[in-house]
Amino acid sequence: MLKAPLPLGSTIGILGDGQLGRMLSQAASRLGFKVVTFGPDVGSPAAQVSLASKVAAYTDEAVLARLADSCDVITFEFENVPAASLDFLTGKGAVVAPSSKALRITQDRVLEKTFARDAGIGTVDFFEINSEADLAAAMKASPTAEALLKTRREGYDGKGQVWVRNADDVASAYASLGGRPSILEAKASFTREISVVAARGWNGEIKTFPIGENHHVGGILSTTLAPAQVSEAVTAEAHEIARKVLEGLDYVGVLAVELFVLPGDKLLLNEIAPRVHNSGHWTQDGCLCDQFEQHIRAVVGWPLGDTSARSTVEMTNLLGADILDWPNLAAEPQSRLYVYGKDEPRAGRKMGHINRIV
Ligand code: AMP
Repeated sequence: MLKAPLPLGSTIGILGDGQLGRMLSQAASRLGFKVVTFGPDVGSPAAQVSLASKVAAYTDEAVLARLADSCDVITFEFENVPAASLDFLTGKGAVVAPSSKALRITQDRVLEKTFARDAGIGTVDFFEINSEADLAAAMKASPTAEALLKTRREGYDGKGQVWVRNADDVASAYASLGGRPSILEAKASFTREISVVAARGWNGEIKTFPIGENHHVGGILSTTLAPAQVSEAVTAEAHEIARKVLEGLDYVGVLAVELFVLPGDKLLLNEIAPRVHNSGHWTQDGCLCDQFEQHIRAVVGWPLGDTSARSTVEMTNLLGADILDWPNLAAEPQSRLYVYGKDEPRAGRKMGHINRIV
């Protein structure tokens, strides 16, 4: 628990060293904070723009203890950081936000959907899968003939997921995920996918950003258009869902809630990301206070910033070789290019994004 707003010049630790850590670090330094990043890679996107970086495994207690000593608050940009590492930091006297409890729930799809259901938020029907027999039984019980098998943990960008079309698929689908603890989800017949990015401070203050509409290609986010053209009722319900999630998790920081919009504008929760999120990158050029600054403000105990949209933005991810087109992208009017500083443009790898004012 932070007792008072952190003064200028305080030090923020960030677990995770990718592009989200990079943009958090840039936002923090603009407000006069120092940043120490912690992650496995030398010269990572986050380390390139930070005061210091600790290169170690997330379970390295000696290095975690030094991070706890050197930081006034510690946060994370990656949901697969072990929750036990956050507990270790807290045990060493560090102030950590979001909490390990929020991370534990949101890094496990079964715990996450159970939490949502218990909080009165709609989800697809889901079944916990620990064996091939569980999967066969769940396929019989699923309200949809086809259903999606996902690993409980560590899946992202469509990885660790396989469609199960009928009973004949059960054995091969179960084997294809390596027999890991999984969740079977009924198929959502959605018309659109939207997300809401929202923040909560130590004092319980909540601010929500306008809704983004997301398009995925091959399971990876391709574009976000925001503010999305959705009804006022959808906006109000999405914001209410975000509020329930933030309060239910006693959350401090920014999170994103991904939602399916069904015919008739019914909303179902797909996923909670306990961190700044790719579908919130549009806020860098659409809002006075973007999601990265908002997260920093929340964890250091500052007042939350203004989330109203001042322009409509289409964010497009630059995956793999897309980044090689930078001379043309950089020449586009009414747009802003963000490059993550990764050297190898492997297929599907997030190399940067461009925000176009529309
Ligand atoms: P996720 O990693 O859970 O966000 O899933 C990646 C994408 O797969 C989502 O953005 C949807 O396009 C699709 N998807 C995930 N779960 C379901 C579901 N239960 N029904 C239909 N499509 C889904």
